[in-house]
This record gives sequence, C-alpha cells and structure tokens, in this order.
Amino acid sequence: MKIFDTLQRRKVEFKPIEEGKLSMYVCGPTVYNLIHIGNARPMIVFDTFRRYMEYKGYNVNYVSNFTDVDDKIIKAANEEGVSSEVISERYIEECKKDMAAMNIKPATTHPQATKEIDGMIRMIQQLIDKGHAYVAEDGTVYFAVETDPGYGKLSHKDMNEMMSGLRDLKVSGEEQKRNANDFVLWKPKKEGEPFWESPWCEGRPGWHIECSVMSQKYLGETIDIHAGGEDLIFPHHENEIAQSECSSGKEFCHYWMHNGFLKINNEKMSKSLGNFFTVRDITAQYDPMVLRLFMLSAQYRTPLNFSQELMEQNKASYERILNCTDKLKDLLKSAQGTEMSAEELEDKEKVESYIREFEAAMDDDNNTANAETAVFEIVRLANTTAGENSTKAYLEYVLGVIRTLCDGVLGVITDRKEENLDAEIEELIQKRQEARKAKDFKTADAIRDQLNGMGIILEDTKEGVKWKRA
Ligand code: AMP
Ligand code: ZN
Repeated sequence: MKIFDTLQRRKVEFKPIEEGKLSMYVCGPTVYNLIHIGNARPMIVFDTFRRYMEYKGYNVNYVSNFTDVDDKIIKAANEEGVSSEVISERYIEECKKDMAAMNIKPATTHPQATKEIDGMIRMIQQLIDKGHAYVAEDGTVYFAVETDPGYGKLSHKDMNEMMSGLRDLKVSGEEQKRNANDFVLWKPKKEGEPFWESPWCEGRPGWHIECSVMSQKYLGETIDIHAGGEDLIFPHHENEIAQSECSSGKEFCHYWMHNGFLKINNEKMSKSLGNFFTVRDITAQYDPMVLRLFMLSAQYRTPLNFSQELMEQNKASYERILNCTDKLKDLLKSAQGTEMSAEELEDKEKVESYIREFEAAMDDDNNTANAETAVFEIVRLANTTAGENSTKAYLEYVLGVIRTLCDGVLGVITDRKEENLDAEIEELIQKRQEARKAKDFKTADAIRDQLNGMGIILEDTKEGVKWKRA
C-alpha cells in the first residue's frame, strides 16, 4: 500500500511500526461553533482510511483531539457571558452528533486539551531543560527554533530564508522573542481567560503543544501516521515535530497525510462571502450519506469544490445504491438455491475483479474516487444480473459485497432509512391523489402498482388514503 507522505513529498510504501497495527493521530476541530463542511472533509476521508485499514485486518488505534482552549472559544464565551467550558462542552456534543450522522466512527480516544495540561507542562519543562525553550520576563515560554536543526523539514521551508525575512521584533511588539520564528509554548493569562498554574506563570498553553502531548500519551513517542488539513502543515505540524522530537529525541511520526481544501463554488468558504455552510445546514437538506459520497468522490489530496449541482448528482448516485440494495433484499425474501448457477459464477468473477479494483484504488494513497467507481460498477452489475431467477446464494453474495465495501469501508449506509421511506411513500400517495383528481387514472394506477411493488398496500377510506406494509 502506498501513501503520499508530505515530509518526503512522494508516494511511499506504507510499513507499520508493528505488524498488523496502525497508530494514527488526526488533528480535530476547535470547538467554538458547529463544525463546517470543510472540517467534515478530514473527518470523512481519514475515517474511511481507518475503515479500510481495519478491512485489511489492522488493529487501528485512532486518536483525534478536540481543541477546547483557544482565542475563538474565549471570544464566544465572553459574547455569551458564559465560561469557555460551557462553549466547548456544548460544541463537542454537537460535533459528536454531526459525526454520528455522517457515520464517522468514534476515535479510540478523543482527548481534550484542557484535560491534558499536566502533560503539556511536563513536555515544556523538558524542552526548557534541554535548552530548546526559554522563559521570557512576563512568563511566556517560547520554543527556540534555532536550536532545532530539523526545523522546516515538513513544510520544506529553508531556515536561512526564514531567518533572512525576519520582521523587526520591536515593530511587531515581540521584543521578548529571540527569533521571529520562535513560537509560544505557554502564555500568561489575560483578564477573563481560563488559566492554569505552571512553574512560569498562571496562564494557558499555546496551541501546538497539545497535539505533541496527546499523540505521545495515547499512541507513543513514535507513531505511524499523523493527519489533518493542508493548512496545518505550517506552522502547526512543523511545530509539533519540533516539540516532540526535541523533547523525546526520537522521530515523531513516520507518515504525514494532508487533505486538500474544500471550496464553495470555487471560492474559499468564508462567512463574509456568504458561502459558509455548517454540516447541520447541509444535512437538513441532504441525507448525510450524500455528503459522505460527495466528500469521497475526489482523492483526498486534491482540492474539492462544493456545489448544489454536485450534491444533486451524489444524491442521485446514492439513490441508485439504495434502489439496488432494496431490490436485492426484496428478491431475497423469496429466493431459493444455495448454489450459484454457472452464469452466476461468471458474474461473481466480475464482482471479484471490481473488488480488486476497489482495493487497488484504496491501496493507491486512499483513492476513494476510484474506489467509489468500483462500487458503482458492482451496483450496475447487480442491477442487471439479479432477478426473479437468481439464487439465494448469488443475491446474498452480491449484497454482502456491497455491504462490506460501501457500508463497511466507505461508511455509506446502504439500508434505506425507514423515515426516508415514509416520506417517499407519502409523496407518492400525494402524487396519486393529484393524478386521480385530474382523472389521470393511468398514472394513478401506475403509482399504486409502484407502491405495491414496495410492499405498501393502500386503503381508500372516508378519512382519506391510508397505507400499511404488506
Ligand atoms: P480547525 O477547527 O480550523 O482547526 O480545523 C479542523 C480541521 O479541519 C483541520 O484538519 C483543518 O485543516 C480542517 N479544515 C478546515 N477548513 C477546511 C476546508 N475548507 N477544507 C478542508 N479541510 C478543512
Ligand atoms: Zn493538532
């Protein structure tokens, strides 16, 4: 299996630290608001990667944090006149609801920054002791980038260039720093901010230190994969490497995976442009599985453009999958035969070749776009080959494959939701009533037949049309 490693800037063969095991850390959201659809991209693509590794038999230890202490959280708390904790706990709960709706598996551990302060203080102290960090007069602790010869290796920034472009520290009000690229590990409290005791001052951690600490605590000093959106490469991940490697003296992580950005109608998503969508906005309009299919319709490193048109296309694709599994399940109710016919065995071979295409796509740096194509080929084949004469063995086989690849790996649920079905039935009944009113009995009868085909029986009563399942 090949993965594009941001640090080596090429696709490389994946070799786990321990055979059959995968340790993976994915930077999670800052919880000050409902998550937006951009945040959903890393969640969905790396959840799918995890699911695929589990499908391959890996035991995956998947850690994804919630950043619950941050300027934006403090701002939201002050605006509402509540504590930061009220804001972060509220939006962690809301985020978990969105994740469940999008069928994202809960991480093995979802650590929160505010619950790991002791570990952060320990790592910062180690960095000071080893000469990689210094304490300024007001108690701010900075990481000294010049003490780390590897600094810049992930973002491929040249240290000499970085040093030559230095801003005037006096002008920018950063006289305390030895070097403009030094970054904060710990900072003193300000009025109205949450704070913790520390050897340097009452204050709070800088952003980057939490991921170094939580990755080490829950996954070990060296891990297999660290992932997140491409905006995190610099400074967040570069700084994580500096902190982790300078404190432990070991390589922090073997592979770095970064997803490309989600844009809206080819523009950056932003509140001021009026093209900012939360996951909640979109799932009010579309089944979350449609959003999932859409997110996986591109390889994760490429930019992805969100549009209503693409969502409509994915809605139709999802409907095709659901119609197929509906049909297979329906046929299975009366199907017989525990041995496939010769023709079915040939079809099975075709399905197997699509499974190989699916695996080849996923093995090629998590190419979910091609993996989806393979699933649609299986759906197409199932639709054309499954019928009244199909054996139970064949129908079960095809349905099983769809469930394994689509539900299991892509995380796209192929069982039609009852409530969706109810809404669809009501809509058909409504259409039939309109056809009858317009004396279009042909259409009305066709709709009745369609409903019968779905196992729905209509009763015309004095109170109107009632329906029940057969
Ligand atoms: P944040 O809450 O801003 O730290 O973001 C949480 C995760 O979402 C990070 O991995 C970001 O890189 C990712 N992310 C934020 N915006 C987008 C976007 N528009 N497209 C793709 N990923 C994004
Ligand atoms: Zn992080």
